[in-house]
Amino acid sequence: MQTVQKVAAMRLPPLPTVRDLINLFGLRAKKQLSQNFLLDPRITDKIVRAAGGKKLRGAHVCEVGPGPGPITRSIFNAGIERLVVIEKDKRFLPTLEILASASGNRLDIHLGDVLSFNMSKMFPEELRAQDWAHKPPPINIIGNLPFSVSTPLIIRWLMDISERQNVWTYGRVPLTLTFQKEVAERIVALERDKQRCRLSLMSQAYCDVELKFLIKGSSFVPKPDVDVGVVHMVPKSVPSVAVPFKVFEKVTRTVFCMRQKYCIIPFKRLFPESLRHTLAGELLKKIHVDPTRRPFQLTMEEFSDMASIYWETCQKIEGLFEYNFRASVPDRNEPEWNSRVLENEILTG
Ligand code: SAM
Repeated sequence: MQTVQKVAAMRLPPLPTVRDLINLFGLRAKKQLSQNFLLDPRITDKIVRAAGGKKLRGAHVCEVGPGPGPITRSIFNAGIERLVVIEKDKRFLPTLEILASASGNRLDIHLGDVLSFNMSKMFPEELRAQDWAHKPPPINIIGNLPFSVSTPLIIRWLMDISERQNVWTYGRVPLTLTFQKEVAERIVALERDKQRCRLSLMSQAYCDVELKFLIKGSSFVPKPDVDVGVVHMVPKSVPSVAVPFKVFEKVTRTVFCMRQKYCIIPFKRLFPESLRHTLAGELLKKIHVDPTRRPFQLTMEEFSDMASIYWETCQKIEGLFEYNFRASVPDRNEPEWNSRVLENEILTG
């Protein structure tokens, strides 16, 4: 069969609109779950084009937070092979089941929380890429989740990408996700941009990132108070940092806690008081950074060098990595990263 005919055959047959199904099943958006639906097919088609458009033909896709299924329909209409959805709210089961049957049973529905969902065996074995550097496998992740979920989720997933676990056991699976506009801008912000923050460094260390387009809040039902950015992320074949994720996370967290100060000030916070003066000065000299530059002005390369030298020093000085400047004594029980703290930092810059 010709490709165009094949794609047409894989499209969904005519169905009641999502709005009609929402009314039929009484699926009012739950405010406490930050549910805002995208009912304009031009926008949901645009999200799917941002995920790869024609490249999705014959691909396997996972949609997170499908709700009543508006993006789900656009994904099917892109001629994909199979779709897996992960949805927390079981009220959407009937509308998703309609799509499952209309698609010829090419939809697998999982009721669950994407934050704890193990995606490492979700797709057929033969889709696994030969190795990490190989081109991404024909698998895509797409989602319009509540912002309270997408921000901690992306940090968790960046760690999974860095450790090649979860769905990234299949290779460099790309992501297309929506975020609050300000968060989307921070993910892609380059050095000297006023939006540059820890999330920019962490995202760009492990992924090529692109802000595809913005969606006005008024396009959602009900309308949220903010606008939305659609971000496409492809894991890098070689990450920009050579240290473990937890080390890069700690360095960026410590340095960005004072993003407007001369960088020497937060650099010192990486070390206990007795070693601070010598080690922070040495670190700056080794990476050739002027101590009066501000954290948001530093490049990825400079951050990467800083993290490598800091990590080398940690291997030589016992307990240095566990040192936490916020605690008066080193706290070995402090979580390595805390998504709630990070989420606050990300939203406030
Ligand atoms: N994708 C639909 C759209 O674009 O209209 C719905 C978007 S609505 C903003 C977010 C959806 O994610 C809701 O259906 C909600 O129930 C679901 N959701 C929220 N938290 C979730 C979680 N932790 N795991 C899976 N789904 C979640």
